[in-house]
Amino acid sequence: MRVIVCIKQILKVGRVHLDDHNNLMRAGVPGMMNPADKQALELALTIKNQHPDTEIVALSMGPADFNQSLHQAMALGADRAVLLSSRAFGGADTLATAKTLVAGIQKLGGADLILFGSQAQDADTGQVGPLVATKLNLPQVTYMTDGTVDQERRLVAHRLVEQAQEEVTVALPAVGTVSAPDTADEYHYPSLHAIRVSMDTPVTVWDETDLELAPQEVGLKGSPTVVKRVFSPKQVERKHVQLPAAPQQAVDSLLEQLPVGIDLTEGGTHNE
Ligand code: FAD
Repeated sequence: MRVIVCIKQILKVGRVHLDDHNNLMRAGVPGMMNPADKQALELALTIKNQHPDTEIVALSMGPADFNQSLHQAMALGADRAVLLSSRAFGGADTLATAKTLVAGIQKLGGADLILFGSQAQDADTGQVGPLVATKLNLPQVTYMTDGTVDQERRLVAHRLVEQAQEEVTVALPAVGTVSAPDTADEYHYPSLHAIRVSMDTPVTVWDETDLELAPQEVGLKGSPTVVKRVFSPKQVERKHVQLPAAPQQAVDSLLEQLPVGIDLTEGGTHNE
């Protein structure tokens, strides 16, 4: 069985800056593995514990320094890692990102299970996993909290719905998106030996030529979405008024404070 875990390297919180085109400026800023992707990797490792014949492949699209998260994935237990990297992939929206990841998944020969984080902590659209599932015409289980693969090679997963947990069974091949837990307590940490071995294990790098994608299909050129403006919404000032407890005084006080121009006679209207 093969499990592909899609991993996005994000900038460390507090170090995020945008250029004039609202693209993230990554140069010189330390990165980290998106927390939900780490959870997706943890799930893949649990499945590998149950089914030791499982191969885990960590897959990412991004610049060369995304290697850092891929080496970390191998130190944590991924068997190998592939980075889809080229200048042509820069500026990708979710559609172009999904298209490139799909091409990478197909070049890998597909997988029984493709796992994603439910959303990336930076752009936070939550669209990439569902887009990949749609493009590959595979069933998808979103917002998974845990899952196993049963003897009939079906994914049995729990997913978080508003105030409950749903259990879903789906035949493989399938796509799952995994939610990050509130705390990282359950993460396991790689040993020093595993870190050393992973640093010596090369990451396979593929560009658009390897993936047989035309430059206009990927990156900025293949992205119909344009982020026009990023801003913090204005804080609306709210006022709290305490009315007197006695009903008549409360009504009088309320009437005093209502905007002028409200006709309170029967059938009256609000005159602006
Ligand atoms: P999500 O869909 O939130 O990520 C879900 C999961 O998909 C991740 O946890 C990971 O498992 C996987 N994944 C995502 N990216 C990669 C990757 N590069 N390699 C491997 N796995 C990956 N694009 C839009 O189309 N619409 C927008 O509204 C939009 N808004 C943006 C706003 C800002 C401020 C910025 C900086 C970018 C925005 N983008 C937007 C671009 C967006 O960052 C990219 O398309 C990005 O590659 C994927 O979107 P996401 O981070 O929201 O991923």
